[in-house]
Amino acid sequence: MRDTNEMELKFDSCAENEGFARVAVAAFMTQLNPTVEEVSDVKTAVSEAVTNAIIHGYENEIRKIIIRCRIVGKELQIEVEDQGKGIADVAQAMEPMFTTRPELDRSGMGFAFMEAFMDDLRVDSEPGVGTVVKMSKRIGKGRELWTTQSL
Ligand code: ATP
Ligand code: MG
Repeated sequence: MRDTNEMELKFDSCAENEGFARVAVAAFMTQLNPTVEEVSDVKTAVSEAVTNAIIHGYENEIRKIIIRCRIVGKELQIEVEDQGKGIADVAQAMEPMFTTRPELDRSGMGFAFMEAFMDDLRVDSEPGVGTVVKMSKRIGKGRELWTTQSL
């Protein structure tokens, strides 16, 4: 049986598209029969990554953001790519409460949320080239546990 499915979206890096991106990924993942909480986790993570691309990657200049989603079995894999400024020190950027834009009232929690709400998070970035945030989440973990326990 076919158990992979992919989609790709390319859209302008304007604030209005943050909501679009979040809902598009949520719609794509419904085929995994997720819980409301799982959908909400993924929407939060996508929203943080797209907001970062808009604000930090492109510094509000309107360029393109690409989202790639892939379903492999019960796992949802998501990539959010910008071809913007890039990150010099990824490990430092991923630390909770680290932000380079405190003047914008940023709290530096975006990557921490992505990490908390997804199962896996990796960030590939190069200054002047851009950033790809790769995250994945296995859908249906809680339900599998329940089924096993109720046997
Ligand atoms: P918050 O997400 O809480 O509003 P924040 O965006 O500063 O604040 P994170 O999302 O954790 O916090 O990101 C940490 C830092 O990593 C940012 O301040 C920025 O310097 C850098 N960063 C994140 N994403 C990108 C990106 N796509 N391009 C360039 N820099 C980025
Ligand atoms: Mg952020």
